[in-house]
Amino acid sequence: MGGEMTAQYQDGAHTSLWLATTTRPSYAELQDRLTVDVAIIGGGIVGLTAASLLCQAGKRVLLLEARRLLTGVTGHTTAKLTTSHGLIYASLREQFGDDGARTYAVANQAAMQHVLDYLERHDIDADMQRFPSYTYALDDEQRPQIEEEARAAAACGLPASFSEEVPLPFPTAGAVVFQDQAVYHPLKYLQAVAEQASVLGGQIVEHTRVLQVIDEGSHCLLATDHGLVQAADVIVATNYPIYDPDFLYTQLATHMSYALAVRVDGDIPPGLFYSVEEGFHSLRPYRWGQQDALMLVGGEPHKTGHADDTVQRYQRLEAWTRQYFPVREVAYHWATHDSDTPDGVPYIGRMTSPSGRVYVATGLKGWGMTQGTLAGMLLTDLITGKENPWASFYSPARVEKQRAQFREETEKMAPGEGKIIELGHTKLAVYRDDDGRVHAVSAVCKHRGCPVHWNAAERTWDCHCHGSRYDVDGHIIHAPASADLEPYRAR
Ligand SMILES: Cc1cc2nc3c(=O)[nH]c(=O)nc-3n(C[C@H](O)[C@H](O)[C@H](O)COP(=O)(O)OP(=O)(O)OC[C@H]3O[C@@H](n4cnc5c(N)ncnc54)[C@H](O)[C@@H]3O)c2cc1C
Repeated sequence: MGGEMTAQYQDGAHTSLWLATTTRPSYAELQDRLTVDVAIIGGGIVGLTAASLLCQAGKRVLLLEARRLLTGVTGHTTAKLTTSHGLIYASLREQFGDDGARTYAVANQAAMQHVLDYLERHDIDADMQRFPSYTYALDDEQRPQIEEEARAAAACGLPASFSEEVPLPFPTAGAVVFQDQAVYHPLKYLQAVAEQASVLGGQIVEHTRVLQVIDEGSHCLLATDHGLVQAADVIVATNYPIYDPDFLYTQLATHMSYALAVRVDGDIPPGLFYSVEEGFHSLRPYRWGQQDALMLVGGEPHKTGHADDTVQRYQRLEAWTRQYFPVREVAYHWATHDSDTPDGVPYIGRMTSPSGRVYVATGLKGWGMTQGTLAGMLLTDLITGKENPWASFYSPARVEKQRAQFREETEKMAPGEGKIIELGHTKLAVYRDDDGRVHAVSAVCKHRGCPVHWNAAERTWDCHCHGSRYDVDGHIIHAPASADLEPYRAR
């Protein structure tokens, strides 16, 4: 990565549309040592949803935010409120069976409904609009994936189907369309949520950074830069966990992406759009009051810290937009990141801390408007002792179970042996070398997704479909694959 000076991207204000169009009340920093039932670390969609629900359940809640509320990822989202999450349902079906995929669908549907009901019940004008959401293919090669996704999503009971008709000004090869999805202004909604939590007795502090979570077994202490807090239960809602006894960081990958809010001459396509190409493009309209509308464009993703052309990313996104739409002006530009888990399902639940009363929500995978909401709902149930049907599916405990099984299976392997190990629904290609070291990579070929097989003579992983070959660390030896096998991080 070079450290050279690059001209800044100048078009539009360098802030999110949401932050630019709300005046947010400010909250004082922590003043005194406090003892509460639940301390929530982080004032994004996860923390605020949990705060409001726990206050409703009668808990004494303190939410601590290091900066200002809603200035993290939530303040920089594109705020599609959907059960349509790119390509996910076919993969969930393959990994977790029909029941797992359905659990994900039901939980996200409930989360979406929770927000819509909240807006209606409290009469909040958060510029919500309903549209169909299209996850589209650009060429015939991508089309089977889209058709499979449509079948899988429909089998989960979602209003999804395959369609050739995609209202975009360039050719596509069809889309999976989800009816009745939504877009809104997330900060108008979440400010109301924060106010309601305060009205119900919840305390919110800003400019108060939690430096350490100390789990004493009987209770937890939070050391902050403004003093101590004692709590019976703690929610780590910092997007990426600041307290991590389960080593979730070994599983999480963060991805940055870029957004523009542009004014165009003429109509904005009536829908939410997401392409399945590798550097995806996302579109959604934003209309408020009687004023003119903006079109939000997202894309140019990369692993956080893995790009030295971040200015050009905005330029490329603008060039892509201008290629298809008569852009009058770029009004705002911003970027942020979110994290992914290897199986595509967030980690939401109890951590293995001494008290068993520290909870986390992370790995929301760029779909936190629903997944962050369901995190608040699920964690509230866990803390109030209410049964929650999604809890085991989302639990971070699945990571530890898989690690234990992995250790057990690899201990039995002889030096020089290679074999496929199935962890849950994930297939791993595992090799124990002559010195006893274990090398583990995904067993799914990067070319067309076929399983790889152990070649004992050459000590390579070979794909029977098209002949791609990899070494024991997953590095390509032979085309057609053009990417290495994903490494498996046991810890
Ligand atoms: C470009 C982009 C577009 C997206 N678009 C969509 C979309 O269209 N639809 C959708 O569903 N999702 C979308 N997402 C994802 C969604 O925005 C996120 O998943 C969600 O906002 C994350 O919320 P959060 O509460 O986990 O995190 P955050 O909003 O980041 O909240 C965490 C808070 O914790 C605070 N904090 C951190 N450390 C500490 C500490 N030590 N002490 C106290 N406070 C601390 C931070 O300051 C922050 O305010 C998008 C993501 C990206 C990157």
